[in-house]
Amino acid sequence: MTQNTDLNIALFERAKQVIPGGVNSPVRAFAAVGGTPRFVQRAQGAYFWDQNQQQFTDYIGSWGPMILGHGHPEVVAAVQAAVLEGFSFGAPTEREVVLAEKIRALMPSMDMVRMVSSGTEAGMSALRLARGFTGRNRIIKFNGCYHGHADALLVKAGSGLATFGASSSAGVPADVAKDTVVLEYNDVAQLEEAFASFGSEIACVIMEPIAGNMNFVRATVEFTRRIRELTREHGALMIYDEVMTGFRVALGGAQSLYAREIAGFAPDITVMGKVIGGGMPMAAFGARREIMEKLSPLGPVYQAGTLSGNPIATACGLKTLELISRPGFHTDLHLKTGHLMQGLKSEAQAAGVPFSVDWQGGLFGFYFLPELPRTYAEVMKTDGKVFNKFYHGMLERGHYFAPALYEAGFVSAAHTDEDIDRTIEAAREVFRTL
Ligand code: PLP
Repeated sequence: MTQNTDLNIALFERAKQVIPGGVNSPVRAFAAVGGTPRFVQRAQGAYFWDQNQQQFTDYIGSWGPMILGHGHPEVVAAVQAAVLEGFSFGAPTEREVVLAEKIRALMPSMDMVRMVSSGTEAGMSALRLARGFTGRNRIIKFNGCYHGHADALLVKAGSGLATFGASSSAGVPADVAKDTVVLEYNDVAQLEEAFASFGSEIACVIMEPIAGNMNFVRATVEFTRRIRELTREHGALMIYDEVMTGFRVALGGAQSLYAREIAGFAPDITVMGKVIGGGMPMAAFGARREIMEKLSPLGPVYQAGTLSGNPIATACGLKTLELISRPGFHTDLHLKTGHLMQGLKSEAQAAGVPFSVDWQGGLFGFYFLPELPRTYAEVMKTDGKVFNKFYHGMLERGHYFAPALYEAGFVSAAHTDEDIDRTIEAAREVFRTL
């Protein structure tokens, strides 16, 4: 397709005139891989079609929400019915109660949940709640984990463990960043040192149980166990950010997997998003009763939202959760994702390309590295040029992966074995070019 007839290029140029960078969320701009983003015209099942009418097999699924694939007929029907009843009321509805009950049934670490409209809002509110509950300011987060763009969470490691964190974005006051301590993921010694130095000042430790924002890195069982023990010992809360993993890696989220390994394991606060809205703006956070009762209107921690618990989003999320609750759903999804990962790995090996893979449920990561990384620094050892060549080779052939080497990938229930086989065949050709 020549430049003049490529409608994605034309639209991107137009978009850049009126939207910063032409996109409403930075990773969509393809800055990490170069080239032009595909503007999506419509999507169905495992596919979407771009502005040029080219079909792609979608391994992003809106960055996680579309676990059933696009336009599942039962979800569409639930949304259509809800639209006819009204868009937004600013008053409580029965569906919010049913959704909260459903979430509690699936993740019993939560007695109560509060609904919001984005993962960012959920993470920001959970942080305020943890600070309000403990009466402390300092928080610990980990290098490579992303929890949305609340000021206190846009922080990178300072020069030393006990020193103030430094903002990773302009516009975040140093005063806000100073209470955020950033440690290495999976580094037990550093964690123990931090608690030994200032454990009584820590309000919470926030983490992704499987870090999907540095591709796909699992927290080791030992690391998770020590976070749980140290937070309990020091009166701090453990916040599990399951925005990406929740309802995707297992029906009960990543916490159900770690609970199998660690006796008595449960986080204090869970943050959720993506799948619980099924593609509509919906997120939530929840905890046990004594923590949640600190929230307004019951307690002193203020939190609110005009569109929170929106009736159309709750209809979409509720139907999605209902459909993924059917027996065997996540086992099938895990097998399907495994088919893709093992297929890519064996083609890479056949071509002599160093490659490693990991996956859980419908979430996956692959690396142009011989061994799976365990920290952000190890992830970033990936050769960006090789990744980008692979990325564009697959894109040209109609297979849409995340456009950055530090992002995870997503498989939906709508992907068939034939879809996955076609992707593996395309990868065979591309690996040979690397
Ligand atoms: N937490 C995690 C683990 C995420 O992956 C994301 C987004 O990708 C967020 C929080 C922020 O969610 P949102 O983009 O809905 O604000």
